[in-house]
Amino acid sequence: MLESSILIEDVVPLPDNQVGLAVLGSPIEHSISPQIHLSALKELSIIDPKFLNWNYIKIQVESSDLPSALPYLAKCGYLGLNLTIPHKVDVLPLLESVDEEARNIGAVNTLFYDCAKWNGFNSDGYGLEKALGQSLDISLGAAKVLILGAGGAARAAAAQALSRQCRQVWMANRSLSRLKILEKKLGETFDLSGFSTFELSKIPAELFTVEDLVIINATSLGLNKSDVLPISLRGFHSTTKVYDMIYNPPQTELLAEAVNLGMSCENGLSMLVHQAARSLSIWTKQGISSGAMFSSAKLALKQ
Ligand code: NDP
Repeated sequence: MLESSILIEDVVPLPDNQVGLAVLGSPIEHSISPQIHLSALKELSIIDPKFLNWNYIKIQVESSDLPSALPYLAKCGYLGLNLTIPHKVDVLPLLESVDEEARNIGAVNTLFYDCAKWNGFNSDGYGLEKALGQSLDISLGAAKVLILGAGGAARAAAAQALSRQCRQVWMANRSLSRLKILEKKLGETFDLSGFSTFELSKIPAELFTVEDLVIINATSLGLNKSDVLPISLRGFHSTTKVYDMIYNPPQTELLAEAVNLGMSCENGLSMLVHQAARSLSIWTKQGISSGAMFSSAKLALKQ
């Protein structure tokens, strides 16, 4: 069952012995982050009972309210925040400190209130890399990757792949102009010699002969039952592996096609869990094991 969210105006100061964590977004009702984090906090409290006083909630915050929400939440005893749509980029000018990973991605999904200021991090790239390694046995630095999309999730994937000096990175998007803007931004930080871009409907023939290709779907195509495939996997080498960042539904049409073609594949739940583990580790300064997080995520999604 999903926990319900509260409005920012209904947040009240916490007692001194309590520590608050929260995810901020709009819409936010669908988020399963509280279940994921609370299960890990419960596990941490076995070793250190102080974590019994830590709580994680979801708060509905509109774009226009974010600048006032951040100092208010700090005053109320909130130490760690996750950000989701529409705040990940808009928060940047509100922060005095943003770590290198988040700067490279151009977005922040984790805030830590430390030294009397909110500090920005991004755990999406880490979450993706960890998920690829654990679920599909992919070492990003040695991989050849095709990323579908040019939004925030695709940018996190590209920045992670380029920072690991992937052997080759291709990116495809429906809107080529949006992808070209992203390419320019990535070029300000990374060496783009092994990098190419093209339109989603115009996959170059050279890609069909690439062995051990990793295809990452970072488009939102697949979220709805009526969605068409972002690309057909027919014609790609049988050693191709497919990672779809979408986790609800658990099997998109793209993943169903990968299964039919005998390709290894995985949905985005592992990325969600690993990015959450990284955020919690920043806030608690503890190593987080992802087992309990996975179980609670699956339970929340009834998967
Ligand atoms: P954005 O809205 O920033 O980007 C959406 C992308 O999808 C764009 O590239 C867009 O292309 C493409 N797209 C949308 N509709 C279509 C269509 N009809 N045909 C072709 N392409 C289309 O979203 P995000 O980058 O934030 O998220 C992308 C996906 O990744 C979402 O499904 C999200 O749930 C998932 N995600 C999963 C995470 C996880 O932890 N597993 C973390 C973050 C995101 P165009 O530019 O042409 O409009």
